[in-house]
Amino acid sequence: MTTPQKLDFDRFFSEVSKRRRPCAIRQSVATLAKSSPTIISFGPGMPNPSTFPFESIDVKIKNGSTVKIEGEELAKALQYSKSGGIEELKEWLQKIQKRYHEPPLMNKHSEVEFDLYVSVGSQDGLAQTLDMLLSPGDNILIDDPVFSGTLGFLKPLPIHLIPVETDEFGMKACRLKEIMQTWNIEQESKLPKVIYTIPNCSNPTGATASTERKKEIYKIAQEYDLVIVEDDPYYFLQYGDDIASSYQALDTDGRVLRSDSMSKVLSAGIRLGWVSGAKPFIQKLILNQEVTTQHNSTLIQMIVLKLLEQWKFVGFQNHLTDIKKFYKSQRDAIISSANKWLTGLAEWNVPEGGMFLWLKLFGIDDTKELVQRGIIEKEIVMIPGSAFNVEDNTKSSFCRLSFSLISPENIEEGIQRLSNLVREELHNNNK
Ligand code: PMP
Repeated sequence: MTTPQKLDFDRFFSEVSKRRRPCAIRQSVATLAKSSPTIISFGPGMPNPSTFPFESIDVKIKNGSTVKIEGEELAKALQYSKSGGIEELKEWLQKIQKRYHEPPLMNKHSEVEFDLYVSVGSQDGLAQTLDMLLSPGDNILIDDPVFSGTLGFLKPLPIHLIPVETDEFGMKACRLKEIMQTWNIEQESKLPKVIYTIPNCSNPTGATASTERKKEIYKIAQEYDLVIVEDDPYYFLQYGDDIASSYQALDTDGRVLRSDSMSKVLSAGIRLGWVSGAKPFIQKLILNQEVTTQHNSTLIQMIVLKLLEQWKFVGFQNHLTDIKKFYKSQRDAIISSANKWLTGLAEWNVPEGGMFLWLKLFGIDDTKELVQRGIIEKEIVMIPGSAFNVEDNTKSSFCRLSFSLISPENIEEGIQRLSNLVREELHNNNK
């Protein structure tokens, strides 16, 4: 473990987030309301839950049990709740972080306290996190290629995106080091303060970073005083048991902000994620949440909480085992089809988790037009690699194939069609 370095948290806050302050009235009203059972409070501007039409909510779980919410609990679930998340769910999520990551910040000797908050899906948590960290003119170091949702959020901001090359282990530490070592403050302005990376089963490349790679990157982050935004929604979709440590597991300083998600575990539509890391960061994020989404749906938080309470850890683990089994068999199907139909036409790394195959097509400079032709001529849909390039108007000989929703038969059929498409393209190009 590394020697902890002291962080000046203020240095990382954007101009706007520096100006975010707790609402004094809200705090004093909340404290007063709790101070005595006889108090008559004209304070809170909340609707009366007796006017809501819902009587009770039953959610049937596939294992045959039911999550039931009624009475006082229902009134609570239908009401505004505390920004940051309902306490009992936060406690559960803390237990999950402890179990899977053992964050050094949770150690009682840590100088920096650990904290987390519940976001409206990880995309929201990431957007709020990046918003908290970036001011106009800032530079952010980012995996290249990278999740298009992150690009969609970052690109319109008045900041600079510094692409850092990736390989089958994600962000390349040597490239990151080189960028930082050769940074020219006069020409390129402010030194970057933030790294954004997808460490596991990356979208789009499927790459997973080893513990060794993460240690190298963490060391560079310490050397240049960088915060690492660890976007890890595929963490629970790693098929094997022997998985690498997360950045959070290495973080002695409080410089890692980790984003988790229930989207691939419980449901994408429930929109539940959480960001965890050093308390000063998380408290600022909660202030931001207070004035934006306010909180994740209390009802959804309650359903997830009750499900976790019913399942206990063992049920959660069993569920993860089932999900991993499903995605692994999908992965095996696409790899076996690719071996059969694409050998000699393309290359790929076998993803160790997640739902993406990242194919490099031989002899094709840019896959954009090919992907268009694939839709029209062969009725197959893929995403061209250039959609994930950090820099605009750049080419890519890759394409991303998602294998989450297709039956093994259709995987085989689709890959065969792709093989024909590539063969025809190469034939036409050689004419
Ligand atoms: N980050 C990455 C890398 C993703 O692939 C996704 C989902 N496609 C998200 C974040 C957003 O996930 P969520 O549904 O939790 O908002």
